[in-house]
Amino acid sequence: MSEVRVLYRPPTSKGDKITDMDLKNQIINLVKLQELDSEIYALGNERAAKPQEIKALEDAFELKKQDLAALEKKSLDLQKQRKEKELELAANAEGVKKLSGQLFSLKTNKEFQTMQQQIADAKADGSVIEEKILLSFEESDKIKVQIDAENLKLKDEEKIFLQQKKTIELRGEEIGARLSQLDAQRKQILPGIDPKMLQEYEKILHSRAGLAIAAVKDNSCGGCHMQVPAQVINLIKMYEHIITCEVCNRILYIKE
Ligand SMILES: [Zn+2]
Repeated sequence: MSEVRVLYRPPTSKGDKITDMDLKNQIINLVKLQELDSEIYALGNERAAKPQEIKALEDAFELKKQDLAALEKKSLDLQKQRKEKELELAANAEGVKKLSGQLFSLKTNKEFQTMQQQIADAKADGSVIEEKILLSFEESDKIKVQIDAENLKLKDEEKIFLQQKKTIELRGEEIGARLSQLDAQRKQILPGIDPKMLQEYEKILHSRAGLAIAAVKDNSCGGCHMQVPAQVINLIKMYEHIITCEVCNRILYIKE
């Protein structure tokens, strides 16, 4: 078995400045401190996750805007295409007008008939373009209805999104207020702990996920759940030294 780690031996001799700080009392204070620190650690983690939660909500909401954006693009594309068709139709009408103007200056009947056919063809082309423009308007009307519906839907989605965001922000504020309370309570306990011991405790606290002092329960460490030998348990009960878990290095104590 490996040696029992003795972390720190507090001053015990009479006349010492901190004789009233016997080890048992200090352990009791450390346990109180740990209760606060466990909550501080959990709240700190919760608060640190908030920006990510808000970002996820924002991303999800942005994604919901995509359908509307697609419809709006489709509507704009249709308008653009229609504009082109309208120009085409105007050019076609211009062509028909020009051909019609030339019609009566023709000399032969054959030329006249050919020109008449050309005019009829051009007019037919014009009708096709007109039909396409009409269909495009119909399509635009349908899309407009869809856009209106999508806008309404998005308004509801936005309300939900803003509510959820607000809830997260309020929780963040709540955490901030609670952390201030805990910090004030922490400051009241600190004078009851030897500074060197506190330093060791905090070192373990930061390296061991917010848990520096663990109770031994059913012969195992409350931090890492590894078995604590009977010999070590006896040492803990003697309150002569700070005893740490040989696996996770947390300070060990026995609940009474
Ligand atoms: Zn352990």
